[in-house]
Amino acid sequence: MPVYGDEVVVLRAQPLGEADRILTLFGRERGKVRAVARGVRRTSSKFGARLEPFGVVDVQLFTRDPDERSKLETVTQAVTVHSFANGLVADYDAYAAASAMVETVDRIIDAEPAPLQWALLVGALRELSRGERDPRSALDAYLLRALSLAGWEPSFAECARCGEPGPHERLSFGAGGAVCPGCAAALGATRRVDVDTLRHLWALLAGNRRVADAAPAEVRERASGVVAGYLDHHLERGLRSMPVVRELRGAAGPGAVDGAEGGRADTVTP
Ligand SMILES: [Zn+2]
Repeated sequence: MPVYGDEVVVLRAQPLGEADRILTLFGRERGKVRAVARGVRRTSSKFGARLEPFGVVDVQLFTRDPDERSKLETVTQAVTVHSFANGLVADYDAYAAASAMVETVDRIIDAEPAPLQWALLVGALRELSRGERDPRSALDAYLLRALSLAGWEPSFAECARCGEPGPHERLSFGAGGAVCPGCAAALGATRRVDVDTLRHLWALLAGNRRVADAAPAEVRERASGVVAGYLDHHLERGLRSMPVVRELRGAAGPGAVDGAEGGRADTVTP
């Protein structure tokens, strides 16, 4: 009977029957795994509290058929590696940002190893749980980098369509970022973006904390609108946690939109 060990992040935990939970786990070595944790909702459970969302846990997983990954596996052991939940539940904004992170990664990974995505997520949850950074910037930086690792790296400097050096003050989610005036005209529907916002987006994506954290609030706000629009464009349906995240972002929407493009309406393909 095959038993696997892996270091996992708990992405989701749903109740099952009287005392069990179905977990969605992101394993460092195995990617996404769904598993049953039996009896974990009983107060006598040895490892119930370890298997809460945002936890990083060393687990042993038992599977009847290692070739059939769609089946549920069973958690037989769980040892906490990092418990980020304690730092997150105390701060509503950090908790909302962490919820959007785990929901996003759940949507972009599958049952294949994704060690860079795994490390990015663990680093971002650690940063949030320690309150080291404004949760909105931490989330925006995470989302841009997670989408990039998934193959959707946006371009904020040169034109995403023809490569002409920027800065370019038009954006097209379909084209993959900022576009030059010529490409903007060819695409027809683009949104306006100012150079300060582009620079902030670039800094978030590049992991340049010094530049990103120095941006004024209104620039961060506009950048958050762009990130939310880019995320919406690439996920087939919006995040459940996004309304909470928008609240965290304040009242500002996705910014000035010209032509037909607005959020998901940008389906113009180059
Ligand atoms: Zn161009």
